[in-house]
Amino acid sequence: MVEFQLKERGIIDKRVLDAFRKVPRHLFVPENMQASAYDDFAMPIGSGQTISQPYMVAIMTEKLALKGEEKVLEVGTGSGYQAAILCELAGSVISIERIKTLSDQAEKLLKDMDYKNIKFVVGDGTEGHKPEAPYDGIIVTAACPTPPPPLIDQLAEGGRLVLPVGDRYLQNLTIIRKIRGKIEAETSIGCMFVPLIGRCG
Ligand code: SAM
Repeated sequence: MVEFQLKERGIIDKRVLDAFRKVPRHLFVPENMQASAYDDFAMPIGSGQTISQPYMVAIMTEKLALKGEEKVLEVGTGSGYQAAILCELAGSVISIERIKTLSDQAEKLLKDMDYKNIKFVVGDGTEGHKPEAPYDGIIVTAACPTPPPPLIDQLAEGGRLVLPVGDRYLQNLTIIRKIRGKIEAETSIGCMFVPLIGRCG
């Protein structure tokens, strides 16, 4: 997975590649699908939701440009795989999910894996999570037509928001940076995510 799906497609951040080598992806997919856990596609995880393709998790993580001390907000916990990768790379992680069963499963799994720098929240992540704001990085793993304004508000100075922006079936990965209070946006590759459902989704 790391050699052929990530490095060959241009993922170069050594810390990101090491995190993918370390986190056992097969623990995050349903038992009957574990043999395909490292294959090059997204997979169903129940509740009509998916664990994203490894390359998509990698490029979104690389775009956050984490150095190790940051506070990161993830919207869309899903299986918890992206959250575990973030725990390897950031100082602390808050992960929000609207479906309680998924959040509870991910919380148990990451606890069993002994991750201590993460907090799970059940709720509408399009509102962000004000009590812990601002965030050095925010990653949204579901698709929205426009970036939710509360997430831009909760981004720290110098922070990055990475999210898929577009319509129901096709989006572009978008990176938003807050530089001296101003917003700069960059568009990256095309992608297809499940919808971000919520007040600003
Ligand atoms: N990051 C996940 C992983 O590593 O498995 C993949 C997430 S899946 C592609 C998108 C997730 O976003 C789903 O679990 C979905 O329930 C969640 N979601 C959608 N809208 C949301 C919202 N407003 N707040 C929080 N979670 C949301």
